[in-house]
Formats: sequence, C-alpha cells, structure tokens
Amino acid sequence: MYNPKSLKAEEFISHEEILESLDFAESHKNDAALINEILEKAAKRKGISHREASVLLACEDKNVIEKINKLAMEIKRDFYGNRIVMFAPLYLSNYCVNGCTYCPYHLKNKRIARKKLTQDEVRREVIALQDMGHKRLAIESGEDPVNNPIEYILECIDTIYSIKHKNGAIRRVNVNIAATTVENYRRLKDAGIGTYILFQETYCKESYESLHPTGPKHDYAYHTEAMDRAMEGGIDDVGLGVLFGLELYKYELCGLLMHAEHLEAVHGVGPHTISMPRIKRADDIDPDAFDNGIDDDIFAKLCAIIRISVPYTGMIISTRESAEVRARMLRLGVSQISGASRTSVGGYTEEVRPTDTEQFDVSDQRTLDEVVRWLMESGFIPSFCTACYREGRTGDRFMSLLKSGKIHDCCHPNALMTLKEFLEDYASEETKRIGDDLIKRELENIPTDKIRNICSRNLEEITEGRRDFRF
Ligand code: SAM
Repeated sequence: MYNPKSLKAEEFISHEEILESLDFAESHKNDAALINEILEKAAKRKGISHREASVLLACEDKNVIEKINKLAMEIKRDFYGNRIVMFAPLYLSNYCVNGCTYCPYHLKNKRIARKKLTQDEVRREVIALQDMGHKRLAIESGEDPVNNPIEYILECIDTIYSIKHKNGAIRRVNVNIAATTVENYRRLKDAGIGTYILFQETYCKESYESLHPTGPKHDYAYHTEAMDRAMEGGIDDVGLGVLFGLELYKYELCGLLMHAEHLEAVHGVGPHTISMPRIKRADDIDPDAFDNGIDDDIFAKLCAIIRISVPYTGMIISTRESAEVRARMLRLGVSQISGASRTSVGGYTEEVRPTDTEQFDVSDQRTLDEVVRWLMESGFIPSFCTACYREGRTGDRFMSLLKSGKIHDCCHPNALMTLKEFLEDYASEETKRIGDDLIKRELENIPTDKIRNICSRNLEEITEGRRDFRF
C-alpha cells in the first residue's frame, strides 16, 4: 500500500506506514546504537527518512536532544548562513465556504465581519506594506468560488505587482489559497507567483475529515494531492505545513516528511518551504478545545528535527508565535519570518476595528523596524531579497545551488544589498546605525574578492539612489 511514488494521497501518505513508523520509533527510542547511526547520517547533511526522524522524536534522552539541536544549528548555519528572509501576509478576503473547525472564517461563523478587498483597497494595503519596507508578500484568502474566484486572486496579484510607491515594490508574491485545479495553478504560475503554499493542517485522514466537516476542503485526497497538481501546472516552489495542535505531533511529523519524500521521488524536488503554525485563539475558536496542543519544548524539538531531516527546505515561523519562541526557533532552523503582520482583511490600513475580520491573534506585535533591529542585534541578517525566482533559481535549480553550498554567493550579497535598501528607505535612525555597522562588518568578512566587489558596487549604487542593479 505504501508507495512514495504513487500519486494517490492514501498511498504516499500511508496511514499504516505512519503507524508502523511510530511503533518502530517507540520500540527503538532507547536504542543508542541506532540513534547514533541516525545522527551520523543526519550529519552528512543529506537528510533522514520519516522513520529515522520519528525515532529521534520519540527519544527523550537529554543528551540526544542536545546533539539534535547542535546539528540543527550547524546545518542552518551551513546552508542558510545567518540570513533571515522577511515577509508579510496580506489577507485578501475572509469569505469562505468551508467548515474548518479551527478557523474563524468557517461558513457558519455569523459573528465575524466578512470582507473582501477591492482593487483600490489592495492598492492601499500594498502601499502601507511597501512603506514599512516589505518586498515579499504571502497572499491569503478563504475559499469561496463566488466571492474569491481565481480571477479575483489573479487580479489582486496583478495589482500588487503593478504598484511602485516611492522606492517600494513587491517583488515576490507567494500564494496561500485553497487547493485548486492544474489549470488554475498554471494561471497562478503565469501571473508570476513565487511559492504556492498550502498547509495540510493534518495528515491523518480520519481527523482531517472531522476537522473539515463541510465544504470542498473536506476532500482529503484532493487537498493532499494539491502539490502534485501545482507542480503539474508548472509551479516548482511549493510550501508545506501542518497546523500543530490538531492531531498527535508524532503522526504529523511522520506524514509531513513522507509528503516531502513523495515530492522528491515524483518531481525530483522537495518542498521549497515548510511552515510551522500552531493553533491560536481566534474569534470563535478556543485552542484549548483541541486535545493535541504542544508546548514550546516539543515545538522546538520538532523544529530541530525537521531542520536535520530536510536540510534543503526553508522553514517559516509567523507572528502566531511570541518574540521569545521565534528567537528560539531561529537558532534551530527557521529561515523565514513575517514581521508587523496583520491577519485581518484590510488590517494594514484598517478603518474598522482591526480585530473584526482577524484570522487569529498575533503574538508578536512589533513593528518591522523593531523586528529588523532585533534580528540584527541577535546576530542575524534580515534579508528582503527576492532574486531567486526572478533569476530563474526555482525548483531543482535552487535546490542544486543550495546543495552545492553555492547559494551563499547569491544570497549573502543580495541580503546585504536589500538590507541596505531597507535601511536607507525605511529604517529609524537607531536601526540604520546598527545595520550600517553590521553591513560594514559583513563586507570585511566576505572571503572572495568577487563577492566583495559585487557588494560594494551595488551598495554604492543604492546609496546614490541608482536602483538599476540586479538583485
Ligand atoms: N483558505 C486557505 C486554505 O484553506 O488552505 C488558506 C488560507 S488560511 C488564511 C491559512 C492558514 O491559516 C490555514 O491553512 C490554517 O492552517 C491557518 N489557521 C486557520 N485557523 C487558525 C487558527 N485558529 N490559528 C492558527 N492558524 C490558523
């Protein structure tokens, strides 16, 4: 039944294989020889399987957890350096025909104000986001074929890319909308999207069906096979995610990694990103009503294990989490974070009460300037770079650059250039001072003359206000 190359959800995410893996993990969690073997394999930086990762997750030995954390930090540093990519979500519409029991946008929620941005409102939101310094967005929408058909989403993408306010521009639009058809994925690809993101929510079919009792999202196979359709439609950067808290985390890790293995086996390229959301309080949603909540230690352990299991996959953590939790996760593997997010429709220019249409409570409420400063003070380089997909570095091209370690040559200078751009255009005096010092130090440390030349030349151009260089 289990077949990672199958295109059928129930064969590549085989329930039996997950249960067997969890049994195996439970009975080998104290098998020191096996655990060492797995850690040695992980240290080769080529990943480990869902079963091996499950053994590590089951193991409670503090020394082993320390070793996993150490390796996760090293892998993070080797593949991603100290760069952290910045983005913001943009909520287009909260009209939704689904019945997801954890999401306040569910059809039966009559308390929440329903709102869909007009193109003028999209323009205003985007200008507000550009004025903060954002260059990369993730658009979000409920599923409603009448109110938010694909044509509406495509029109919004066009509008977003067309706005050039002062020195601002949105250069990459990632899309988080419901599972759709190959034809619609092709249209999204043609509209120039970056990553197509779709959270699985839970990999357990039985729970999935009861958590999504009504609406098109109820169909487990259609949802789980969405990434294959996206890839068939030409989108080669796809982002996976589980909403932690809905099902047993051990089951979810195993399913998530099987999904990554499936994409690699069938399409030759694994997921571009994995998001790590945890269920949060929202309008008519009480996270305590779900039995599978995980504490910060388990959350951190999951993060580190994902990092060493799929070293080539970017990891994302949103403002659902507090600054403290985000700081911890950044060290263990997260490579992208959102900043100054609003999870309501129209939230960046809100005239009505901001919480009226909110999807979930935001824990990290800091401004983008504060988040950027905090990252720099914590030893990271915030990056507003979006070059990869415009330069055609997507799918397996991106992965092979990352695997060869050569991605640093592109990412590091680009991160510094786009940070410089942020500092010049949007930062407070204090953030600019800290950032300029950081860039100066980084330039001194860049080993090859080639990169130093690219960097300093472009930085000069930015300072002079000539923005015709390639990122
Ligand atoms: N509607 C699209 C779909 O069905 O996939 C995606 C957009 S939705 C705005 C983005 C994600 O928010 C969902 O996939 C879900 O995991 C997450 N979400 C929903 N309710 C949440 C809650 N109460 N707390 C945290 N995250 C939540």
